[in-house]
Amino acid sequence: MKRVAVLGSTGSIGTSSLEVLSALSDRLTLVGATAHSRWQQLAEQTQQFAPRVAVVSDESLQGEVEAASFHSETQLKFGRDAITELASAEDVDIVVTAIVGAAGLQGTWAAVEAGKTIGLANKETLIVAGPLICDLAKKTGSQFLPVDSEHSAIFQAMQSGKTAEVKRIILTASGGPFRGWSREQLDSATPEDALRHPTWDMGPKITIDSATLMNKALEVIEAKWLFDLDVSQIEVVVHPQSLVHSIVEFSDGSCLAQLSPPDMKLPIQYALTWPDRFDGPSPKMDWTSTWSLDFAPPDRDLFPALDLGFEVARRGGSCGAVLNAANEVAVSRFLGGDLKFREIPQACREILDAHNFDPDPTLTDLTRLDQWAREETSRWTSSPST
Ligand code: NDP
Ligand code: MG
Repeated sequence: MKRVAVLGSTGSIGTSSLEVLSALSDRLTLVGATAHSRWQQLAEQTQQFAPRVAVVSDESLQGEVEAASFHSETQLKFGRDAITELASAEDVDIVVTAIVGAAGLQGTWAAVEAGKTIGLANKETLIVAGPLICDLAKKTGSQFLPVDSEHSAIFQAMQSGKTAEVKRIILTASGGPFRGWSREQLDSATPEDALRHPTWDMGPKITIDSATLMNKALEVIEAKWLFDLDVSQIEVVVHPQSLVHSIVEFSDGSCLAQLSPPDMKLPIQYALTWPDRFDGPSPKMDWTSTWSLDFAPPDRDLFPALDLGFEVARRGGSCGAVLNAANEVAVSRFLGGDLKFREIPQACREILDAHNFDPDPTLTDLTRLDQWAREETSRWTSSPST
């Protein structure tokens, strides 16, 4: 029996993780779960799973939360420190990091420090602090098992060869809702348009990141750290069907891909049960109907976020923290109707270029730069010439 903590259990990845736990209840048990504000949903989850602890990280809700709605055997805690405590608790074997954004770094860091196995969904952790957290993991023996579907696909395909035999990896991208749109159409794209993802059902932040291709940009950086690759070994291809989740090309030219319907329960389950596989709740491929797979290069002019990702992956240092913070704020301003769609990568580019590059930042430096980039992006306006 593996003992699991799910940080961010009320989100898209969190609820899919709980579906996997429920389907594999003879192998996986929930020790703790966290939400930020959706405490009613968290309370319902405790009624189903009776975990030892439930955490509401927004402390300001303490007066409003009804403790009686939680399972009688579940201890209710508040605040960010309670996330840290859960992530490093002795009775936890594997921590699923499903909190969105840089807010997920603290819990992931605590779990890595405690030497836990990490089911890594919160890619922002690697974007902000890739080298520091990878060093920490080496010291504590903590292992990252990717939940992101592309990285899970690569992890699975890599098991067909030796690391030294990997020539390159090809990350697939659906292309998002705006694949094939013109510049003029993109100029008037609304949050509703951007939230209508053609193949994946995800939380709002990553859905907007998919529309700008910033998600793929972040995944390039994530892949570099997860698989210890040189950036020149990473490529991106648009694959609208989202059935091939990524490809590994080995030195002899053989390409191994992983296919499954676009549903996160499979990569989540693989991270939770690795190195074993079991029948589970993920939908299966239908090999009785006719279908085809398309691949095309991404449009880097219309979706400049992708090049930002490659650049940041190459430069390293403080770039990831700044890009991530700028993007989080720009996405939130776009969702609030305060920025246009194409201004998201534009703001990120300008904040990145304006920052004081540090090639070897500490965690404190990164926190300070994250804050700086958030403030700058909050007041950023597009200059008339662009
Ligand atoms: P959601 O927005 O659906 O869920 C986010 C979760 O994080 C919720 O449980 C939310 O709690 C919690 N949360 C939000 N803000 C904070 C905060 N400040 N402190 C603590 N907890 C917080 O996101 P997703 O599930 O879509 O994404 C989660 C992570 O997984 C992201 O890093 C994303 O990049 C990654 N990922 C997601 C995929 C997907 O298919 N959704 C695919 C691959 C990666 P509450 O509900 O109370 O607000
Ligand atoms: Mg992905």
